[in-house]
Amino acid sequence: MDISIIKHDKCRLCGSKKVVRFLTLDGLPLTDNLLTKKELGTEFIFPLDLYVCEECFLVQTLHDVNVGEYYKDYLYSISFSEFARRFAELLAKRLVEKYGSAVELNVIDIGGGDGLQLEYFKKLGANVFCIEPSEYLSKISRGKGIDTASCLFTFDTVQRIPEKYLPANIVVSSYTFDHVSDPKDFLKAIRKIIDREKGVVVIEVHDFEKIRNRREYCLFQHEHTTYYTTATLQNVLASEHFVLLETEILTNQEKRGNSLLVVAAPEESIWAREAKNKISLNEYCKTSTYEKFGIEIKESLQKFRSYVEKRTNEGVVLAGFGAAGRGILSLAASEVSFPKIRCMFDNNRSIHSYYTPRSHVLIESPEKIEDFGVNEIIVFSYGYFGEIKNSLKGFIENGGKLTSLLEVI
Ligand SMILES: [Zn+2]
Repeated sequence: MDISIIKHDKCRLCGSKKVVRFLTLDGLPLTDNLLTKKELGTEFIFPLDLYVCEECFLVQTLHDVNVGEYYKDYLYSISFSEFARRFAELLAKRLVEKYGSAVELNVIDIGGGDGLQLEYFKKLGANVFCIEPSEYLSKISRGKGIDTASCLFTFDTVQRIPEKYLPANIVVSSYTFDHVSDPKDFLKAIRKIIDREKGVVVIEVHDFEKIRNRREYCLFQHEHTTYYTTATLQNVLASEHFVLLETEILTNQEKRGNSLLVVAAPEESIWAREAKNKISLNEYCKTSTYEKFGIEIKESLQKFRSYVEKRTNEGVVLAGFGAAGRGILSLAASEVSFPKIRCMFDNNRSIHSYYTPRSHVLIESPEKIEDFGVNEIIVFSYGYFGEIKNSLKGFIENGGKLTSLLEVI
């Protein structure tokens, strides 16, 4: 993969140079850059530094990976998940009920993937338009009869949206806003397409407060440029003349575990009178909060590394379970690799026979456990621990040990 880095020296939101680094994860690969045997050692690896701005307290990286090329070949889709379909259906329904009074409802999805979210708006009678940088996903979206532009969304690419979809009454963007290099440019571009009187914009990002509470360091990826709390998201919206209306359009049970989902509107719109008051940053306005968190993450990674050392010194043959983000980044960030972890098991067939980036552990089907002489399996996808435990009954009955990553860190 041909990838380059662009560095910044000031805050992406307020431009302040008072940015403080609170965490460095050395040599992180791109999460889904799985390798064939031939590609081992050729992967992209770069330190990930996380900063907090001491003026506006936005958590961010100060480097961009040249995403255009990367997302062009992006294959990741959530459509296979029952949960994701239900989420998309509920979100469309609630938004149309509450904010969709326009006779001709125009809905635009930015980073719309394979058109999953828009399918549900379409069913409700809306005119829908998708903007998606991945050629592969755009093709699927078009196949569903959804007009789609294959590009990144910026102030300059707005012109690719045909007139008939404008102005947009509802603009949706899930897990895209925290990938962009310039959040202010992104919001300026939304102001260009949104109905200033009655339009709303819905933005979903990873919630920094939840990441901190759950120590979810696996979400610190090169792909993410910014991390928001409700208060910092309100600030960035306000800086481009949007007001935050609500964060409860869906309940916590209806959203993914670390979701921060907000509805906002132009400050001159009819909705502005329902705007939330300014939300306090509370402990997030102290640099020490972030520094303490950075230390906790380092401690977790050190604990993991020590555990692996201890067990392998005792002669235990270790393997992992779950070759998604958490597994890949736990190994990479704690510098644990093959042969200390002999193999990584995963139920996803399409990634079998590939190797994890940086740690170079072979990914295999759990049906092959016996071939590796494994005594203990560390479960990285611990959200599914019960399910995995059930499926590995044979291994456990034969004296194998199953350990959740949570027990280790
Ligand atoms: Zn700032």
